Amino acid sequence: MFDLSGKVAIVTGGNGGIGLGMARGLAAAGASVVIAARNLEKSRAAVAELEARGGSASAIAVDVTQEAAVSALITQTLERHGRLDILVNNAGTNIRRPAHELSLAQWHTVIDTNLTSAFVCAKAAHPAFKHGGGGKIINIGSMMSIFGASFAPAYAASKGGIVQLTRSLASAWARDNIQANAVLPGWIDTDLTRGAREQIPGLHENVLRRTPAGRWGVIDDLSGIAVFLASPASDFISGAAIPVDGGYSIQG
Ligand code: NDP
Repeated sequence: MFDLSGKVAIVTGGNGGIGLGMARGLAAAGASVVIAARNLEKSRAAVAELEARGGSASAIAVDVTQEAAVSALITQTLERHGRLDILVNNAGTNIRRPAHELSLAQWHTVIDTNLTSAFVCAKAAHPAFKHGGGGKIINIGSMMSIFGASFAPAYAASKGGIVQLTRSLASAWARDNIQANAVLPGWIDTDLTRGAREQIPGLHENVLRRTPAGRWGVIDDLSGIAVFLASPASDFISGAAIPVDGGYSIQG
């Protein structure tokens, strides 16, 4: 039910953090994983790690904000592997400033990286999914898909948008046997949140206090949900937004 042997997956931003946690799960379940991010050296290190664990992986350099580069990513993946079954739209960034201090260029950077890229990647993958008889899209939201954030308006808007994009893709492409779901991670220890911890006084303690599990997540906490949403086990689940947050979002 969870076997991904013979399947091909692209993980954007898979060279570190949550994307690498998901790539580890997908590779362990048998998928060939394409690590798609800008820093090719970092991506090659991730590939080496996945291969050392017995998985199959390769790296393709891409900036997901560039439509032509995304198109080339899909073409190269199909040339290498002959098919595409799973797309994880994980690449993301944040610029932490309240709205009155955020420039329009900064707004666009965050929206383009976190939200527009998911649309562009999904659209580019759609013909390959249709040709292969189906596909799985896993979009990465956030607790800020649910809550607002005074210090990150563009990030929160992008992550709210991810949920609605997911629902729209899920309903449009259901008859093509394509399932689209969103994962909403809680506070996970990565480069991104290490930056947040430095910038936001008290964040570390607040996360520990508000998370019923009493700890930060680690990237391997995201491996299982990736396998589940990429596998036949979730074939009748589409358009969902699933928190993986140690209970953070159920706290009043
Ligand atoms: P990291 O900073 O560790 O990873 C971000 C990844 O995105 C990197 O691999 C980076 O690779 C890639 N990336 C960024 N911009 C681009 C781009 N333009 N084109 C291609 N790749 C890009 O952060 P996380 O692992 O924490 O974040 C991953 C996702 O999870 C993001 O969408 C984030 O919003 C989300 N998230 C994280 C949470 C957390 O607590 N950590 C909580 C909720 C959501 P490179 O620089 O090589 O391009």
